[in-house]
Amino acid sequence: MNDCIFCKIVRGELPCYKIYEDNETLAFLDRNPVNPGHTLLIPKKHSETILDTNDETLKKLITTTKKISKAIFESMKLEGFNIGINQFKIAGQVVPHLHIHIMPRHKNDGIKLWPSREYESEKEKNNVQKKITRLLK
Ligand code: AMP
Ligand code: ZN
Repeated sequence: MNDCIFCKIVRGELPCYKIYEDNETLAFLDRNPVNPGHTLLIPKKHSETILDTNDETLKKLITTTKKISKAIFESMKLEGFNIGINQFKIAGQVVPHLHIHIMPRHKNDGIKLWPSREYESEKEKNNVQKKITRLLK
């Protein structure tokens, strides 16, 4: 993708603070971190979300996420970390090139997770379960 900023980083047309690279993936520091060490891991080949990314690449991304997380966890002396992927604009995806956030966490760092709610009824819960599982048979 010509005008994709993460493709430009892959091609070396934009700078990044590189953390890791192999044939299929690249990891670099997020320029606006939730905490120092916040890293983005991307596939080098452009895709927008996990839905249009091939399974082999996804497997590689998750094993590389583990490798990088371990290095960040140990080097930055973390007490925990979050892994997140925003998928599509409505869910907060700003850069339309798949990227996995590895976000360092510390005690009392003030970062809040997403809010939760109750299902309105057992019926609603059953319907949702049916709707999803129908496509997984
Ligand atoms: P998302 O909202 O999941 O699409 O996250 C996009 C992330 O990319 C944000 O956390 C930005 O801070 C980060 N970001 C955008 N442009 C760059 C860049 N050129 N170098 C490093 N991080 C970037
Ligand atoms: Zn791209």
